[in-house]
Amino acid sequence: MDIRTAILIAAVLALLIGVSLRYVLRDYPDEFAPSIRLWLLGTLIQPTAWMCYSLRDQAPDWLTMVLANALLGYAYALHCRAVRLFVGRPLPLAVSHAPVAAIVAFEILFTYVMPSMRLRVVSVSAVIGLQMVCAASALLDWRTPRRRSHLLTAAAFLAVAAVLAVRVAYEGLRPDVLPHAFAASWMQSAVFAIAACFPIVATIGFVLMASDRLNQELERQAALDALTGVCNRRTLGEQAARAIALAHRHKRPLAVLLIDADHFKRINDVHGHEAGDEALQTLAAVLQCSLRAGDLFGRLGGEEFVVVLPEADEAAARASAERLRAAVEQAEFAAQHRRVPLRISIGIAVIDDHDDFADLLRRADQAMYAAKRAGRNCVCGPSDLPRTPVLVAGDFAG
Ligand code: GH3
Ligand code: MG
Ligand code: MG
Repeated sequence: MDIRTAILIAAVLALLIGVSLRYVLRDYPDEFAPSIRLWLLGTLIQPTAWMCYSLRDQAPDWLTMVLANALLGYAYALHCRAVRLFVGRPLPLAVSHAPVAAIVAFEILFTYVMPSMRLRVVSVSAVIGLQMVCAASALLDWRTPRRRSHLLTAAAFLAVAAVLAVRVAYEGLRPDVLPHAFAASWMQSAVFAIAACFPIVATIGFVLMASDRLNQELERQAALDALTGVCNRRTLGEQAARAIALAHRHKRPLAVLLIDADHFKRINDVHGHEAGDEALQTLAAVLQCSLRAGDLFGRLGGEEFVVVLPEADEAAARASAERLRAAVEQAEFAAQHRRVPLRISIGIAVIDDHDDFADLLRRADQAMYAAKRAGRNCVCGPSDLPRTPVLVAGDFAG
């Protein structure tokens, strides 16, 4: 392999991938911007490093050796910082830049002070290899989610580290000395081939990491209610269906609480819709804090919330509902510097043979309306209802 050609190919590939990355990742959310910017800068600095490298024998050593290797080390330092920042394990600036300083020191030492091709190649390869391991280790850390995109990016870093480790051993131990950086040898061919492939594979991995994260975030947002951040009706329905199926299979009790804010329209009318929104957020937060592990909770819509209590019979559900009602009653909520009392009415339904979530919601709704009729700010369950239930408005069956 003609090494100078390989270097120029590496430069062009890194440049192309950098430009493509700039184009593709412009649309990603701002939260990704800092790590994307670092990666992009690293990808764009590599071609400059390779260009300086390719001028060996045609330009002074400080350009083709010291600056070329320093730029390469800096590009990899930026990649390392980018992935570590992305997975939430950022490197202090001094740590990520220390390898660049070390590369410059080794280059000056082994080029001008005590010239040694062997020591130059071995020391700089070892430093860059360590940078690669540092980046890969953050992606393979047990605290980082095991995603294929993470593994692909880590594999790109480790492939370079492995080739450089072989180079350190080979160049360090061979009896003769590498005659020239562009001397055709299997070792030099392997080093420059892997260096040319690295920006492509690693950048594909990085883009996939960003896409994975974006998908995760979109899935999370689709599952939650936009105003209160609690589960939305669809997510709650899915979770409830699973809990109800388990209760039927194991013949275990389960209860549903339908919670409706009292006179909520008044809060909107008196204090404005914005205050109404804040009241709903407070309500959701207070209810969520008062739940127990294993309870399912979500916003049904409007000023109505639902709690699913696995393993709860009517008495247990009544105790939970009473706890929620009292917590809301004691909650501090103010609009326009005036305390606004929050109150809720709660209807309870307990599981019966063949009930699905819609059946339970319908009966909890009937009980909730009984609570409204009983004066609000109270709890009603099946034992408070007349034997033949009267169907009222707000039927959830459809
Ligand atoms: P009741 O005690 O009988 O339940 O009276 P209420 O006023 O709470 O019931 P009603 O159904 O008459 O009014 C519900 C109000 O909730 C009307 C609606 O404007 C308000 N609401 C529903 N969703 C939202 C929301 O997302 N934000 C705000 N600010 N208000 C909402
Ligand atoms: Mg309502
Ligand atoms: Mg209401």
